Amino acid sequence: MDRFKLDPFSYVSYEITPNNFDKYTKRTYPFVQKDAKHKNRFYGVCPGCNNPIMMVSLYQTQNATTHPYGRHVKHSIPQIADYRQDDYDNCPYANKNNKSNNKFLPAKSAIGLSNKRLLKEQYDQVIYILRKQTDVLFSNNLAQKMLDEYVNNTGWLYRNTTSDNLPWKFGEVISAKSLGGQYVKIDSDIQQAIRQYYLSKGKDIECKEKRMQVPLGNFDVCLKFVFEDFKSKLNGEHLQESITFVVFDSMLDNEIVYQKELPVEPDFLINLMRNSSNQTYRNKVLMNYAQSHVK
Ligand SMILES: [Zn+2]
Repeated sequence: MDRFKLDPFSYVSYEITPNNFDKYTKRTYPFVQKDAKHKNRFYGVCPGCNNPIMMVSLYQTQNATTHPYGRHVKHSIPQIADYRQDDYDNCPYANKNNKSNNKFLPAKSAIGLSNKRLLKEQYDQVIYILRKQTDVLFSNNLAQKMLDEYVNNTGWLYRNTTSDNLPWKFGEVISAKSLGGQYVKIDSDIQQAIRQYYLSKGKDIECKEKRMQVPLGNFDVCLKFVFEDFKSKLNGEHLQESITFVVFDSMLDNEIVYQKELPVEPDFLINLMRNSSNQTYRNKVLMNYAQSHVK
């Protein structure tokens, strides 16, 4: 893997570089520990599973072709993290061959509960990210329904959910929903695709100010959306993940009207959380709803 965290209870991950390691650990214990031969070993926590990792080639390689990376340690490291096999099996950075076929984590999984806490505290930001990437301005009402569905299905126990990909894995839990009545951003690809689709049926949609309201579904056209095909690929040490946002007409054999691959941006949520000026703009309605409905 190419990212590390400082402790299992943190949601913040950093790229593995000598500079970041020095900056955030000051090369102190417990991040530096001696092995049996008194050689320094460099430790951190895996952002995917909260298990301990060891940095490989952190300082030795100075050329451009080899990069330092993190490797799972299959046992507990004092003061860094306790090793948990269940969470390792869930890790998107782990060897795929070891993965369990079971789609769900055990109910008391530490990483599952940690993701649940994160969602409860940051649900409005999760929706903000999905709005940004889809150009659909999901209403509070719809966002509340989606959260109910996520809670009813204990979505935080879906395997391979991490604090980095939570907003996108959230989409994976939600069944198809009507797009009728929702607003989309003007001049966005989705707005143009939907307007074109309606024009092809002989109807135009009026646009007001900077947004366009998708007409309520009827027997001619009924647009719905779904997040599907979550992809996770390890490119060398780098984890590349995405989910596809699909708009379709449920009245016409689910014909696809628009689709877009939404790339997982591992820093997106954490940057929102750290940006204090952003905190004043947080959606209080969704914050309160999540506080009382995620139990
Ligand atoms: Zn891991």
